[in-house]
Amino acid sequence: MADPKSKKETPNIDIYKAWCKGCGICAAFCPTGALARDEAGFPYVKEPEKCINCGWCEIRCPDFAITVKQRNDDKKVREEGEEATQQ
Ligand code: SF4
Ligand code: SF4
Repeated sequence: MADPKSKKETPNIDIYKAWCKGCGICAAFCPTGALARDEAGFPYVKEPEKCINCGWCEIRCPDFAITVKQRNDDKKVREEGEEATQQ
C-alpha cells in the first residue's frame, strides 16, 4: 500500500554553484516559483515545497548546474545500500 506521507516529500533541488553562471534560465522556466534569483542573479531554492519535480530547470540549464531528485529515491537507494552491507 502506498505510504500517504510520501506524497508530502519535496524533491531535493541541488544547485552546483561552481558551474552556475547565473543566467536565470532555471528560475525563468520553473513553473511553480520554487526557484528564485538573488540580487546577483544567481538562483536559489525559495520555496522547495512548491517543486513538482517537473525537471524543467535541470533540462534547461546549459551548464548542468542544477539537479532535482525525488527524496524517496535517495531513501530507497540508501536503504538498499544498508541492506547490502548487512548481508
Ligand atoms: S523541477 Fe520543476 S518545479 Fe522543481 S524547481 Fe525545477 S523547474 Fe521548478
Ligand atoms: S540555468 Fe543553470 S547556469 Fe543558469 S542560473 Fe540556472 S543553474 Fe545557473
